This record gives sequence, structure tokens and C-alpha cells, in this order.
Amino acid sequence: MTQAIAKQLTAKATFTHLKCRECGETYDLGAKHVCEDVCFGPLEVAYDYDEIRRRVTRESIAAGPKSIWRYREFLPIATNNPIDVGTGMTPLLKTNRLARRLGIKNLYIKNDAVNMPTLSFKDRVVSVALTKAKELGFSTVSCASTGNLANSTAAIAAHAGLDCCVFIPSDLEAGKVLGTLIYGPTVIAVQGNYDQVNRLCCEVANTHGWGFVNINLRPYYSEGSKTLGFEVAEQLGWQLPDHIVAPLASGSLYSKIHKGFQEFVKVGLVDDKPVRFSGAQAEGCSPIAQAFRAGRDFVSPVKPSTIAKSLAIGNPADGIYALDIARKTNGNIESVTDAEIIDGMKLLAETEGIFTETAGGTTIAALKKLAESGKISPDETTVVYITGNGLKTQEAVQGYIGEPLTIEPKLESFERALERARTLERLEWQQTSV
Ligand SMILES: *Cc1c(COP(=O)(O)O)cnc(C)c1O
Ligand SMILES: [Zn+2]
Repeated sequence: MTQAIAKQLTAKATFTHLKCRECGETYDLGAKHVCEDVCFGPLEVAYDYDEIRRRVTRESIAAGPKSIWRYREFLPIATNNPIDVGTGMTPLLKTNRLARRLGIKNLYIKNDAVNMPTLSFKDRVVSVALTKAKELGFSTVSCASTGNLANSTAAIAAHAGLDCCVFIPSDLEAGKVLGTLIYGPTVIAVQGNYDQVNRLCCEVANTHGWGFVNINLRPYYSEGSKTLGFEVAEQLGWQLPDHIVAPLASGSLYSKIHKGFQEFVKVGLVDDKPVRFSGAQAEGCSPIAQAFRAGRDFVSPVKPSTIAKSLAIGNPADGIYALDIARKTNGNIESVTDAEIIDGMKLLAETEGIFTETAGGTTIAALKKLAESGKISPDETTVVYITGNGLKTQEAVQGYIGEPLTIEPKLESFERALERARTLERLEWQQTSV
């Protein structure tokens, strides 16, 4: 062993313990997620920020791998050999046509629809969770999923050689089911909604010695979402945006983007400034948006019914923290109808060439509402998080995007079809302009 490696292995970890978000009670760094000794609040990883400040600079990060692991000092991982399947460092795209359409001067898309390996933001949280699962000695990993998490857990478990059993609601989109089965895990389709799947999984986690990425490994898993904040700050040239818009299911990713920005400020990588946090939910499952509108500081569970299945969590674990962030940053939490979600998917595709799933349609539709109502001002540098890929939720747009023009393999047949298409286009244009 070279001296350099030996030194790295004995280097002090940057994370120190688990801490209850409610009462502050501390716990050792095991596979646990609730404050079982005192208040049953959620546990979160605590760091030694002085140690992080001593270790990282903008330059050291920029010289790191082109993945989430360039921020490893901010992640709760002890190994020098994390599971790196290229997750993270997705494009931050400066929009042009969408920006003009919405009247926002500087509008960026953080495009996790092309994240690796399974085309959603969930690859971030799973890369961290499964690296931790291996550290803690688990040989079987599992999750309660709304779709994308099952894709990601199955894929990365396959890569890491871990046994995998995932739980999904039985009514998921075909692309999400197939995109899990291909990796060969055990897939349990539960006849119930996500909240029922999650309750069942909490029982399984207690009876089987498995690492559930979003249950007993949740404190580690959720830290992966901070990289959505880190990357945006770095990609904007080491500064924070004025306003972000992100989707909310459990409220975890939204809250962790906030934590990510704050950590970069804390260790001096970016200057402090106010960032407004706005959120998006589907009307058919909008417990956090409803609480926001009603001015409540608690979230009442709902029974989900929406095409945005990846956001369909009726009892969101981090709902109250998301609410608090929206309020204290002067943001808003909007909800949009299923029809608006489809329009949002089409709008992003037609203006920027990005095919997102229903969650992204929800976020774009909420962005549009915020822009039109003046809740985002034209001068705010705004970043919108697109978290999933449209190829996985094709059912949602089937019947709303037209059909190919089928022709005979003859020029005259093509000319007739083209004439028909142009007539239709003129009619549509006349209809929308009245
Ligand atoms: C899971 C998921 C979300 C929401 O994540 P939370 O952290 O639970 O709020 C958003 N978008 C997509 C595509 C997802 O799969
Ligand atoms: Zn507690």
C-alpha cells in the first residue's frame, strides 16, 4: 500500500453522526432513520464543516470525477471506492425559446432526464444509498418505489452485484415496470397506492435484514439529492440562482437542494444570497401545495389520483420541511391539473427538445403558472429541475400529440399528405388565435 492511499484511508471522515431533525438527539452511523429513543422524528447525517472547508476548494472539486463523486466530502460515504456509474453532472441548459415564451430572461433547465444509468434524478440517491449499503454490510437491497426508484435500485444493484427486491404499486406505467424487470431483480407489484406499498415495506424492513434505500438507509439516500444543488451552483460559475422550481413527492429532493446550497455557502465555495424555492405538485396529489395555500404548518395526507405517478405520494415524509423552506425563502408551491401536465410536457419538448416524463410536465406547468402570475419576475435567474425521462411514461401523452402520416411509397402520396398536414396546421392556428 502506498503512503498516499494509507493516508487517505485513515483520513478523518467528514460526517460524524446521525441527528434527529426534531429534538437533536444524536445516533451512531447505522442503518436507522427514526429517533427511536425520544421523539420518532427523522434522522439526518451531520457533518464536520470545518473539516470539509479544510479539504475542498473550487479547484479540487473541478478536478474530480465527472459524476456526483466530485462532491464526495459532502456525502456520507467512508469508502474510497464508491459505486460510480456516471451518475450526475447532467447538463444545465440555458433555455432560449422557453425563456422567451414565459418571459423570463435567464431560465435554465437542469436536465436529469438524461441522468445515468436510468434517466432520472433517482440515480443520485441510489448511488449514495447502495454505496452505503455495501459499507454497512447489506447483501440485499430494496425499496418502496413510485417507479423511477425501482429502475435505479435494480440497475445499480445489478452493477454492484447486490441482491435486489423492489416494491411498486401494481398500476405503474409499462416503461417503468419493464425498465426494472430488465435488470433481473425480484419485483413485487402491490395492489395498492405508494403509501400502502411504503407501509408494507416498513414491516418488511423490520422482519428481513435488508437495506431499504428509502427506509432504513433514508438518511444516507436523501443526501444524494444535495448534488442537484451543488452541480447547479458549480455550473452557474460558482454562484447561486435567484429562484429554483422543483417537483415535490416526499419533499426530499426539494429540501436537499436547499441543504446543498447552504453547505456550499457554509464552507465558502459560493457567496451567500437569497434563493427563492418554488415547488410543483399534481392537483390529484397535492398535500403540500394544499397546506401551503391554506397557511398550515402541517400536511394532511391525501389519496392520490393523477397521471404524475412518480409524484404520487399522499403522505409526504418531508412535507413540513418543504413547506418551511417555501415560506422562509418567499417561494410558492403550485399544483397543476393532469391536462396542464400534458401541456407542460409538450411545451418543453416543442421549445427545447427535451422529452420529460409526467413529473417534468408538472414542473414546467407550475413554472408557467408562476411566470404568468408574476410570482417569478423576468429578471430572476431561474433554474427548473427536470427529474425524469418521457420515454418511461408514454401512456400519458398517447392520443394528445397527433399521429404519423401514413402514405404509400409514392411522391404524389407524400404531396397529398403534406397538403393535408398544412391545412390542419392552418386550422389549428386559426383556432388558437381566436
Ligand atoms: C421520486 C421523484 C421525484 C420526487 O422526489 P421526492 O424527493 O420524493 O420529492 C421527482 N421527480 C421524479 C421523476 C421522481 O422519480
Ligand atoms: Zn428526536
